[in-house]
Amino acid sequence: MPAITNHMPTAELQALDSAHHMHPFTTGDELTAKGARVITRANGVYLTDSEGVEILDGMAGLWCVNIGYGRDELAEVAARQMRELPYYNTFFQTTHVPAIALANKIAELAPGDLNHVFFASGGSEANDTNIRMVRTYWAAKGKPDKNILISRHNAYHGSSIGSGSLGGMSGMHAQGGLPIPDIHHINQPDWWAEGGDMTPEEFGLARARELEQAILDLGEDRVAAFIAEPVQGAGGVIVAPDSYWPEIQRICDKYEILLIVDEVICGFGRTGNWFGSQTLNIRPDIMTIAKGLSSGYQPIGGSVVSDEVAKTIDGLEFNHGYTYSGHPVASAVALENLRILEEEGIVDRVREETAPYLAEKWHGLADHPLVGETQIVGMMASLALTPDKASRAKFASDAGTVGLICRERCFANNLIMRHVGDRMVISPPLVLSLAEVDVLIERARRALDECHAQLK
Ligand code: PLP
Repeated sequence: MPAITNHMPTAELQALDSAHHMHPFTTGDELTAKGARVITRANGVYLTDSEGVEILDGMAGLWCVNIGYGRDELAEVAARQMRELPYYNTFFQTTHVPAIALANKIAELAPGDLNHVFFASGGSEANDTNIRMVRTYWAAKGKPDKNILISRHNAYHGSSIGSGSLGGMSGMHAQGGLPIPDIHHINQPDWWAEGGDMTPEEFGLARARELEQAILDLGEDRVAAFIAEPVQGAGGVIVAPDSYWPEIQRICDKYEILLIVDEVICGFGRTGNWFGSQTLNIRPDIMTIAKGLSSGYQPIGGSVVSDEVAKTIDGLEFNHGYTYSGHPVASAVALENLRILEEEGIVDRVREETAPYLAEKWHGLADHPLVGETQIVGMMASLALTPDKASRAKFASDAGTVGLICRERCFANNLIMRHVGDRMVISPPLVLSLAEVDVLIERARRALDECHAQLK
């Protein structure tokens, strides 16, 4: 086999890709016909493809490259750690400095008494840990029947059998025998699509109270935990009405339900604070972390756990763990990423400067004929495409067709913006400059214009 390099013609790379590489969440045959876009390098907030085209990455990879691309410091740390201790595990009463240092740093940054970290390689694994941890917790408390986890339709918590069951993606549940037993889903707080005649505040309360109803129906003594993203990410950057989270918190407190907040996207500065829970005033018992923890430079995630949960779990042998739990190279890189986020004041800058500027420009897109609702929290934002703003109507074509056209027009304008059905979403690197915000908005508007023209 010849060496496969960046210097090969794009068509050859695409053919080799489709011959042997199966892509996540992709119809392989369609991709083979079209050819995947080959990304060869990246710097700052820009990607470069195999044709030499520069693309503004409005998604920070997969919601993860918080510090932007091309930070040599992380490469240096990785190389140093690989030479010193490339691998050792944290099973069997051993540990190592990178895992110790990272766990301590996360405990320092995390809110409240979330002082303990169980590491994983990503968000799916961490949510699998959470399922087993909360069930083990309640069993240790003498309540082994308290083992149901409540989640939300259209939530995303990962792709493993456990985390995919926790998530509420119908397309995922249709394949491979999901969900596993004792997972229950309630409706999401998406006022634009599902709010009917209610005000957003009324709707937020109504949707939160579905949690209370589910607890009463299933039995307080059966429900272990409720899990949710502070702002639904993969579901379409859906920001709940203000009334939602206080009510969820009240219900979890009242019925002694553990609250798991999935911070895989919202964590590490995305919402303008270290965690989305701080932005939205939520008090979790467990937080799921991944993505921005290492800015995607290494695969690492984890569960950040309260003193109370950790005390109970530490009192028994928790028969759970991954070969790469607390991987030394991933931990060292994550620690360096956190150092950069903190020392360069990136999170503060997002909150005080970049996010308010982006919000002003993003909401400005609401005057476009195709755009209904615009939502934004920190550096994650969405807009709902609609044929009629006043009635919040959906397009007559299959859900997602217009979103797909719009995404293609973004691509053609060298902007990565994702579509979730007919919602367009962005989640750019946190280091986006104000001038780059302007470029992003200008390209987004052009893509919307072209999409609008194509629909006529
Ligand atoms: N939880 C949330 C909120 C996510 O957005 C994701 C991934 O997008 C996951 C969990 C799964 O993380 P991973 O893909 O690292 O397994």
